[in-house]
Amino acid sequence: MLQIGVNSHPIPHPEAIFLLMYKGNVLTLESHGSLLFKHQITDFQPTPETQSIYCGQWYGKDVFVCRLSKMPKGFIDTPLRDILLAQDHEHYALLSRARQLATWDADHQFCSRCGHPLANKHDREHTKICSNCHHRSYPRISPCIIVSIRKGKQLLLARGTTTQTRFSNIAGFVEAGETLEQAVEREVYEEVGLKIKNIRYYSSQPWSFPHQLMAGFFAEYESGEITPAPGEIIEADWYDIHCLPEVSPKASISGQLIYQHADYIKENL
Ligand SMILES: [Zn+2]
Repeated sequence: MLQIGVNSHPIPHPEAIFLLMYKGNVLTLESHGSLLFKHQITDFQPTPETQSIYCGQWYGKDVFVCRLSKMPKGFIDTPLRDILLAQDHEHYALLSRARQLATWDADHQFCSRCGHPLANKHDREHTKICSNCHHRSYPRISPCIIVSIRKGKQLLLARGTTTQTRFSNIAGFVEAGETLEQAVEREVYEEVGLKIKNIRYYSSQPWSFPHQLMAGFFAEYESGEITPAPGEIIEADWYDIHCLPEVSPKASISGQLIYQHADYIKENL
């Protein structure tokens, strides 16, 4: 399993595990297809110029994510989403963390306050301290809410402009100064024009596109007519739990909310 609370951050060494990324995609050995974790990459060692970021320990071994500036020979690159959603819970956590730390490193090459180059990270935590103004830059984590809403034995499902054919829940970023529950109520009203009640927390999931933390909720319909927000929601409707359209995969919290909610309705209502 992944252990992230370690005392100091080592530099890359030959016994470590390396996760390779190129332009945000995940690299795997050509001979192994897109099976990232089935076969460990052993014939790669970073040079001092390689952008390597320490991720923690994976079953006692140090893990680094490396941001490569060109494709190495013998590797293929696969979009993160395709690999991430095929992983079990533990590998999902490792890959999510690796990707978010790689994004942090890429996005913080210069101080956001004074523009000074940020050379080195702290040796015990993931922060870069500006040598000019001492401003600290941490990995950015953006809280989002996602909510499954029921009305009797039906679930509200929506298709957004980015999800294309698949139906999902209502989701959105938490605004500055807002609680999670307020964000749930506001997003539902903004995206489909409904009032909801009995908001209950379900679970959370890191969503590395690029650095969201999804907080999942269940809720019940209270009032209003479905009114999709132009430019955001292509269509939204109530669906009987026995007749759901194509929805998000179970590896995502969106899929988990839908299937868990459907099971709850079958057993209790
Ligand atoms: Zn600075």
